[in-house]
Amino acid sequence: MLSGRALALALLFWSLVKVVARMLFSKQPPGLEQFHNNYGSEGLSPIDKSERDALASFSRCIACARCDFGEAERIAASEGQYPGLMQLVLASSRSMPDFDAAVRGFDWVPETVLRRKVRRCPVAIPFPVLANFVRAKAPRAS
Ligand code: SF4
Repeated sequence: MLSGRALALALLFWSLVKVVARMLFSKQPPGLEQFHNNYGSEGLSPIDKSERDALASFSRCIACARCDFGEAERIAASEGQYPGLMQLVLASSRSMPDFDAAVRGFDWVPETVLRRKVRRCPVAIPFPVLANFVRAKAPRAS
C-alpha cells in the first residue's frame, strides 16, 4: 500500500497518463472551435495577439468628457442609441456581450469625426480602431 510521497507520485503519474491518452485519442474539437462552442452563445469572441495589444490602448480613458464636446445633437437624435463617446469608451465597449449596443452607438458618429476626436482626447484613445474592433466582435443577431 502506497502512502505519503509515493502515493502522491503515483497519482501524478496516473493523471499524466490520463491527460496524454485524452490528448491522443479524444475527439474534442481544436481549441478555437471549443472556445466558440463554449462561449459563442454568450456573445464572446476569441481575440488574437494584436487585438489584445489594442485593448490596452482602449482602456486609457480618464473620463474627462472632452470627446463628448459637440455631440449633443447626435446624442439627442439617436433617441438613446448613442450615449456619447465617453460612455461608449467607458462602458459599452468594455463588455463584449454588449458590443451590439456599442455598434449602434458608434454608427451615429462618422469616421471623420472619430478621427478628429483622437486629437482632442488627452490620452489619444484610437476611436476609429475601437469602433472597428467593436463592429468586428459584436455578437451576431441570430
Ligand atoms: S476624451 Fe479621451 S480620456 Fe476623455 S473621456 Fe473621451 S475617451 Fe476618455
